[in-house]
Amino acid sequence: MAKQKIMFFDTTLRDGEQSPGASMNVEKKARIARQLEKLGVDVIEAGFPIASPGDFQAVKEISGIIEKSEVCALARSLPKDIQSAAKAVEGAKKPRIHVFLATSPIHMQFKLCKSKGEVVKQAVDSVKLARQYCNNVEFSPEDASRTEKEFLFDIIERAIDAGASTINIPDTVGYAMPAEYGALIRKVRERVPNIENAVISCHCHNDLGLAVANSLEAVKNGARQVECTINGIGERAGNAALEEIVMALQTRKDFFQEFEHSINTREIINSSRMVSELSGLFVQRNKAIVGKNAFAHSAGIHQDGLIKKKSTYEIISPQEIGLEETELVLGKHSGKHAIKNRLESFGIKITEQEAEAIFPKFKAMADEKKEVSNEELLALAKGIKSLI
Ligand SMILES: [Zn+2]
Repeated sequence: MAKQKIMFFDTTLRDGEQSPGASMNVEKKARIARQLEKLGVDVIEAGFPIASPGDFQAVKEISGIIEKSEVCALARSLPKDIQSAAKAVEGAKKPRIHVFLATSPIHMQFKLCKSKGEVVKQAVDSVKLARQYCNNVEFSPEDASRTEKEFLFDIIERAIDAGASTINIPDTVGYAMPAEYGALIRKVRERVPNIENAVISCHCHNDLGLAVANSLEAVKNGARQVECTINGIGERAGNAALEEIVMALQTRKDFFQEFEHSINTREIINSSRMVSELSGLFVQRNKAIVGKNAFAHSAGIHQDGLIKKKSTYEIISPQEIGLEETELVLGKHSGKHAIKNRLESFGIKITEQEAEAIFPKFKAMADEKKEVSNEELLALAKGIKSLI
């Protein structure tokens, strides 16, 4: 059976850039866009052109330099937004306009102050208007996970009729549970009569730490596009992290065997480091996949096991995401074997007797400093070698 492609829609430059304190200039955004293309993302959401002249400029610039990925601009369901988005992506090889409108009772009543009928009309008019400029239009019923089901199915059907070819189901406030969100995606697939004319997309936020779990559940239930960001940056607690979703698909091919994707995982660490550096948002040490500690093993038993066979404690080889090698942190939990091994990687062979001599000194240093650097270990070894 032919595999089904999961499209990666990266919104680092739009939702990610909405992270407090992450504002980036046009030049930085263009650098990130180039890296995203190298990473192999299918769609780059480059910005929200009506939001500011800088945002407009960034989308326009990125549209001019990207060859393979689609370049998408966000717009509220308002003519001035759609016209601005259309103008910003008009130079793109593969342009897309993403139109959104809130559909949950709380948003319609308190934010839009509109009835259901008015919201449906506005959505249909907006998709139609966007289609006049671009034949690739995505529609998002904002706050979909808190929208009344029947109303949601109805507005999706009409948006597809109006010309939307991607339907995004945002869990805007990060409220959904995985099983619940998966069931919602499945219901959209079952209950919207013309759904085969559109790709279902998921867009999950991490307020309860479930963005990646929800996205994977969506994929299992019929979503064929995932919206995500590098390092999981984004509004509030952030968006689903691209690197975590792709490495889950990759590492658990047995569980996700019906799917394929076009991400070059070896570009993950470069992408992560670039986004962290240019956005100023540092990655927490223990973050899955890209945190500094993600491949660092410190327990002695683990280090010993890894040296004998990598797969004892490592489910992903660091090379797969573009890292050089696993980092065994040398500290007070490390055993003699790990020390010998590290020294050997620097071309220093030590005897059993020398290892016995180094070990207490190493332990004393580790007790004081928590982590013993390669330089410090080399200095210890040289001291011992010259003594013996
Ligand atoms: Zn969002």
